[in-house]
This record gives sequence, C-alpha cells and structure tokens, in this order.
Amino acid sequence: MDCSVLVIGAGVAGISAALHLADQGQAVTVVERDDFVGGHAVRLGCKAVDDCQRCNACLLPDRLHRFLNHPGISLLTRSQVLAITRAGRSFQARVQQRPAIIDPERCDDCGLCLEQCPAVEDGALRRPAWAEQRPTLAVDPAACLHFQDGRSSLCQEACPTQAIDFGRPDREMEIAARAVVLAGGFTPAPPDEKDRLGHGRVPNVIAALELEEMLRRSGRATRPSDGREPQRVAFVQCAGSRQRLSRNYCSRICCGYGLRLARGLTQRQGARATVFYMDLQSSGRDPDQFLAEAKRELELIRAMPGDVGPGPADTVWVEYQARSGQPPQRREFDLLVLNQGLAPNPDNPTFTEWLDLLPGQHGFLAEGPGVFVAGTAAGPMDVAESVLHAGRAAQAVMEFLEDKA
Ligand SMILES: Cc1cc2nc3c(=O)[nH]c(=O)nc-3n(C[C@H](O)[C@H](O)[C@H](O)COP(=O)(O)OP(=O)(O)OC[C@H]3O[C@@H](n4cnc5c(N)ncnc54)[C@H](O)[C@@H]3O)c2cc1C
Repeated sequence: MDCSVLVIGAGVAGISAALHLADQGQAVTVVERDDFVGGHAVRLGCKAVDDCQRCNACLLPDRLHRFLNHPGISLLTRSQVLAITRAGRSFQARVQQRPAIIDPERCDDCGLCLEQCPAVEDGALRRPAWAEQRPTLAVDPAACLHFQDGRSSLCQEACPTQAIDFGRPDREMEIAARAVVLAGGFTPAPPDEKDRLGHGRVPNVIAALELEEMLRRSGRATRPSDGREPQRVAFVQCAGSRQRLSRNYCSRICCGYGLRLARGLTQRQGARATVFYMDLQSSGRDPDQFLAEAKRELELIRAMPGDVGPGPADTVWVEYQARSGQPPQRREFDLLVLNQGLAPNPDNPTFTEWLDLLPGQHGFLAEGPGVFVAGTAAGPMDVAESVLHAGRAAQAVMEFLEDKA
C-alpha cells in the first residue's frame, strides 16, 4: 500500500493533521490502534454552565464527521505499527490489523449480544463515544471471556445476523510513505501512584477522566457507591503530576479543565466545590476573569492533601495542612476527584528508536527529517491547542513534500 503521508494515531490531533493534508490533495493513511477514533477528546463532557465555558469538548464532532467521510483518507483501525524504517528518502512501515470480531456490515445493532455477555460490565463489548461511528459495537479481547479461556460464546449464539466471528485472522501489510506524522497522543498520568489519595482504595474517590465520562454519558455527576448526586465535592489539582522522581513537569491544562468541572458541578447540580491546589495556571481567553469567577464560586485551598480515607455513609475524609506550623485539618466530602495530568505515550521510546529521533522533553516526542509530531505526542496541551499544533505540523509536512518534489 502506498500513500503520501502516514499518520499514526486518530485522536483530535491525528484527525486534524490528516484533514489538513487530505484537503491539500495528499493521500493519507491513518493507523489507529483502537476500534474507534477520537482519542481522549471524544470522551470529554461539555462543561457549559449558563453560557459556554470554552472547554473545547465540541471541537471534535464536525472534524470527526469530515474525517470519516473524506475520500483522501484511508483509515486502519485496530492497527499497530510493528516496525517502521527509513527507506532512502521515504519510509516503510509494517502494520498489523486485528480482525473486526463484530462485522459492521452484518451487525444491525439489535443489542442482543449486550444482553447475553457475562462480562459486559468489564467492558467486553464497547460502544463508540460518538454515535456516528461504525461499527457501533466492538469486542475488547482483553476483557472478553472467550479470549481468556474460550468459555463464553453467548453473544455469537445470540446474534441473529451471524455478525460475530471469533476466528477471523490478523492481517499484516506494508505501507510506504513519503512523510510520517506521529500523533499517538498521551496517556493519563496515574492519579494516585503513591496510594495517598485513595483512588481504588476509598469508595467515591475517582479520577477526572471518570468524571468526564460520567458527564458525557448523563450530564450529571453521581457517586459510584450509591448513584446519588454529591453535595460536597473536592478536587485535587496536580494529582500524579509534578512528582520529584517522575513527571516532574506541569501538565498545563489540568487547572483549566479542573476549575471548569468544579464550576459546572456548582452551577448545574448545586454542589459545593472545594479545590485543593499548589498553584493555579492561567486558563481560557480571559484568564483574569476566569479566575475571578472561579474564586467567587469555588472554595480554593492552597494545600495538597496528606491523607485520604473512608468516612461514615461512604463519605471521603481529606486531611491537609492549610498553613505550615498549624495542625492538620480533616474535612468530609461526598466525592473526591483527582485531576490527573498528561504523561507521555509509552510507545514513544520505540518510535524514537525506529526513526532515529532525538529524545523529546519529559518523554514526549521530537521531530526528525520527514517525521512530524502533532498534538499531545509533543507535550501537554488542550484540544484547541492540539488542533492548532496539528495544523502547523501538517503545514510543515506540505513544505517538506514540496522541497522533496
Ligand atoms: C482528565 C482530562 C480532562 C481533560 N479535559 C479537557 C478539556 O476539558 N478541554 C480540553 O481542551 N482538553 C482536555 N483534556 C486534554 C485533551 O484530552 C487532549 O488535549 C486531547 O485529547 C489531545 O489529543 P491528541 O490527539 O493529541 O491525543 P489523544 O487524545 O491521546 O489521541 C491519541 C490517539 O492515538 C492513538 N494511539 C496511541 N498510540 C498509538 C499507536 N502506537 N499506534 C496507533 N494509534 C495510537 C490512541 O488510541 C488515540 O486514539 C483533558 C485531558 C484529561 C486527561
């Protein structure tokens, strides 16, 4: 398979770069490892209150629609690059594609497989975050019982259109390209590496991405333990970021999304929100006004929790020291949200080695001859910045291709 540009990753950055390039007549192949496209941005919830908070969650759908229907873009989902090498002035990639276990041509989305699947709660069957995507259902082999020990084929037996087949083989292909765009994005920083903030240990302590997912699905925040709407919600900024030994950098975007999430819960659900922080980065088009509004609506406490534990009636207690020299204080909340940062994609070292790139800052990617980086693969940024960054990367690709011609 020949193309002019190979884009790796179909998050908002890969999608934006591919659209720029294809609009200018380039034949673009996009390799995405997931069943669905959109990356993390497609999972974000709208944070509008009385008016738009400019959280960027709505920047994706139009682009996704154009991307999925663009004649100049070939999309390979469920695919990963096995190797990529420079071949003279071009690149040669070996790509492996997992089979679609649910055939999108046959599936009529009746939902019987979901009813039968014993591991549906564990994510064995997934739906895309965005309804327009095809397929509308996909099997996750990591959670599906059939792939653990062959125990369950209940979905296959229930399927009235015989869309489900566990036996389809992988496919391998060679792709030649004149330039490569790395757009594999980020991985969410573990919110509680030191097991101090209660994630996974204390009920009703959740990571920010879990809250985003909740808001996207239902528009409301609820407590995982009992499904009730929380009245007192605390947020911890810089959870998993700015560690002395790992991720010793600021993820830049967490203050913006964290304060927007907190304001959203205050205004939409009437919750009282408290934000624990070290320092606050400016955010939005008018940062002073944004911060002034946040200070009016939220309780901002400049202290990081030292300890977190389970309280009565599934509450969460948070211990912190507001001023040095003072004894620690304890406060109770109904829900605690850990605002995690952005960590580099673990695949970055492999691409750096394959393509002989210089190491980027903090484990993110740097460019090399014919190799361009788009969005959070290059470092932490929000959706709007990722779109702009991808546009600039695509422009640089165009200049590179014209120079080579
Ligand atoms: C908790 C949280 C809340 C956020 N809230 C906001 C917000 O309110 N507003 C905002 O503007 N931003 C927000 N962001 C940031 C936003 O998610 C990012 O800016 C955006 O997702 C970056 O897009 P991307 O395409 O660079 O990366 P990603 O979204 O990470 O997409 C990368 C894509 O590449 C694919 N991929 C990765 N590796 C490979 C590989 N080796 N081969 C093939 N495919 C691969 C992935 O599957 C994915 O589809 C938030 C981030 C977090 C963590």
